Amino acid sequence: MKALQKAAASKADTKRRKPATSAAPAQRRAEKAPKNVVSMKVAITHPDRIVYPAMEITKSEVAEYYAAVAPWLLREAMRRPLSIVRCPGEIEKACFFQKHEESSLGDAVHSAKIKEKNRKTARYLYIDSPRGLVQLAQMNAIELHVWGATIDDPDHCDRLVFDLDPGAGVAWKRIAAAARDVRAALKKTQLQSWLRVSGGKGLHVVVPLRPAAEWNAAHAFAEMLARTLAAQSPQNYVAVAGEKNRENRIFIDYLRNARGATSIANYSLRARDHAGVALPIGWEELRRISSADAFTLHDVPGLLKRRRRDPWQDIGKIEQALPAQPS
Ligand code: ATP
Ligand code: MN
Repeated sequence: MKALQKAAASKADTKRRKPATSAAPAQRRAEKAPKNVVSMKVAITHPDRIVYPAMEITKSEVAEYYAAVAPWLLREAMRRPLSIVRCPGEIEKACFFQKHEESSLGDAVHSAKIKEKNRKTARYLYIDSPRGLVQLAQMNAIELHVWGATIDDPDHCDRLVFDLDPGAGVAWKRIAAAARDVRAALKKTQLQSWLRVSGGKGLHVVVPLRPAAEWNAAHAFAEMLARTLAAQSPQNYVAVAGEKNRENRIFIDYLRNARGATSIANYSLRARDHAGVALPIGWEELRRISSADAFTLHDVPGLLKRRRRDPWQDIGKIEQALPAQPS
């Protein structure tokens, strides 16, 4: 973290974007960063480069954000194959999606050989330390997307994700109600679920599976649940992809429950205008929230310090499996 700070400071001395104010908040935040990131020593190049123009957020602020949330982010993303959205310029101008390791992104950014559908193998990125996360930020990774499986067992799904995607103009209340409906449907099959705002438009309902399930079974179960809800409430829900079907409705996207598919990682920033964060929240918090992008790079580190309890604290403890498949 010292290196981060130093790099930001020296650059700011020579080439201030704006007098006095621009580098100061980032430095203040860096000074307050938790001790466990001091040893990271990741040099951030071009620290003053603007990543989010609407918010005047710089690359060093992005790196500092990831350093601050690293312990939380790793609770989920640790050792999961990653896809990343990298933005070497400003967001929405110059971002690209990267699934495989193409060249080294840092000594703490690892890769694992995983079989592809066509029987070839490919190298997937993964991290297992705060240092790896900050190195990803140095390589301009803004969004991190993870598999519902780990590199240690890529053939089994240990997290189902129901992604609720509202059509244009769907009110937030209906999106929140959709999440509760998915939760209730899961409960009927004895499955507990957890909630996250995507940092974009919708909500994700996440189901841990222990023991992990075959991908085929995970996909079939998720599809069945989505189709059932769409059949029960066709005015609200649709289980078929496509913008048209979604008009005034919510697409219950179950398609992420497939080997190789990904969903945004908890605490990942979004490469969208105002730096929203994909934040895990408690079910009881849902009624106090008014949008999926309510939390940003600026609020989340402070919020984590104030928070007494991780709303996803028990997700890794619970043992629950998919219901036996109807024959
Ligand atoms: P929202 O709530 O706004 O729907 P979200 O995270 O649910 O946010 P997106 O970011 O739109 O939704 O989802 C994109 C999904 O598609 C991610 O899971 C990502 O892994 C996947 N994906 C596949 N290819 C790409 C690509 N080229 N660019 C971006 N995402 C991609
Ligand atoms: Mn979505």
